[in-house]
Amino acid sequence: MNNLSFPERTCCICKDKKDKKEFFRIVEKNGNYIFDNDQKEQSRGTYICKTQECLQKLSKHKKIKISMEELLKMANLLKKHEKKDYLNILKAMRNSQALSFGINMVLEDIQHIHFIVMAEDIGEKNDRKIVAKAKELGIPYIYHGTKEQLGEVFSKDEITVIAVKNKKIARGLIN
Ligand SMILES: [Zn+2]
Repeated sequence: MNNLSFPERTCCICKDKKDKKEFFRIVEKNGNYIFDNDQKEQSRGTYICKTQECLQKLSKHKKIKISMEELLKMANLLKKHEKKDYLNILKAMRNSQALSFGINMVLEDIQHIHFIVMAEDIGEKNDRKIVAKAKELGIPYIYHGTKEQLGEVFSKDEITVIAVKNKKIARGLIN
């Protein structure tokens, strides 16, 4: 297969090669780099992976000087992007019997649970209940997304907590 139809670019940090859609594009302007969100700046582009890791390294780069403001613009997009991917993983597994959701079901299944995702806006009372159980049984837990976003995983209005019963999937989400 010839590569001409794929506009491949290289990350300026890790040297990874991918389709240019997978990168943030930055361009130099008067000695400083700015984030070219629309990929429209005429100057030669420099590309960087959409990962925390590469962005963090970029912030300390000796030659590519970029302001905290520009870095933040990318980091914020990254957060959204990652959150979405994460919820998409849960969504992909929603019919697999690997998940419990809602306070009652999660507490009922708690002995079989390996990982817990709580909404960032979970109510205080439920928060305390889940955290106490998680600590007691040594189950890792995180706060991720809003009740509404967790709800979307199961096509409900709101869900406060989703728990993973499958060990392998739990491990995949923790890493
Ligand atoms: Zn990279």
